[in-house]
Amino acid sequence: MSDIAVLKFGGTSVKNVQRLRHVASIVEEKARAQKVIVVVSAMGDTTDRLLHLAKQCCDEPVPEELDVLLSTGEQVTIALLSILLKDLGLKAKSFTGAQIGIKTDDNHSNADILDISSDFILRALADLDVLVVAGFQGVTAGGAITTLGRGGSDTTAVAIAAAVNAASCDIFTDVDGIYNLDPNKHHGAVRYSHISFDDCLELADNGAQVIHPRAVRAARQHRLPVRVRSTFCLNDPGTLIRSA
Ligand code: ADP
Ligand code: ASP
Ligand code: MG
Repeated sequence: MSDIAVLKFGGTSVKNVQRLRHVASIVEEKARAQKVIVVVSAMGDTTDRLLHLAKQCCDEPVPEELDVLLSTGEQVTIALLSILLKDLGLKAKSFTGAQIGIKTDDNHSNADILDISSDFILRALADLDVLVVAGFQGVTAGGAITTLGRGGSDTTAVAIAAAVNAASCDIFTDVDGIYNLDPNKHHGAVRYSHISFDDCLELADNGAQVIHPRAVRAARQHRLPVRVRSTFCLNDPGTLIRSA
């Protein structure tokens, strides 16, 4: 196992510069002890806004160009977070999905990851404290930009963690873990301290947005424990997804 921590922050966790500063402070703390790969989503409702723009152009925008458009959301976040981290004195650098070597099939708007260049990532980490990676995107063998389906940044984080055999993979979000029901809709929802890959996959497949089903499948395949936790309650351990 390598001493690398993978941290993923979703859209609400990075929705403005104030939140990005908070994320940068979490990354800074982690980077004191370990190499860090941080995967980020687009800021707030950016992806929805970009989609809306495309839909104003035509009813069915071509998927190839939609992917070029939607991937820009995450590109904004990696640049801003890297600027903040460098300002804190860390050796940090931003990487798009293509730059970090996330190879996908050509199923535009819902692509599957085929391969990740762990050699490239480990070489980059030799010189840097933090790699800041755009979630939700990759590149085909032919060089076309792809996206991984809505919520796909979770999949990026888990796939990278598996590729580099990371010591930990934490999905930071706006709830404090995985519940039996959406806690924002059901007052009596009960939180799991831990949950098996299979049970979590069932929740995800049934539409629990908190983690993407493909991310759970990738974690199960690689037997990689994944922690889902709150960006805003840092001493709360959240929910650990692991073998039963
Ligand atoms: P992020 O932007 O961090 O990826 P998402 O909006 O994709 O966050 O997922 C977090 C949301 O998932 C929560 O705000 C919550 O309303 C919703 N959710 C749905 N089902 C569940 C569940 N079973 N447990 C926890 N959260 C859930
Ligand atoms: N930005 C993308 C979305 O809104 C991917 C993600 O957030 O995981 O679906
Ligand atoms: Mg999500």
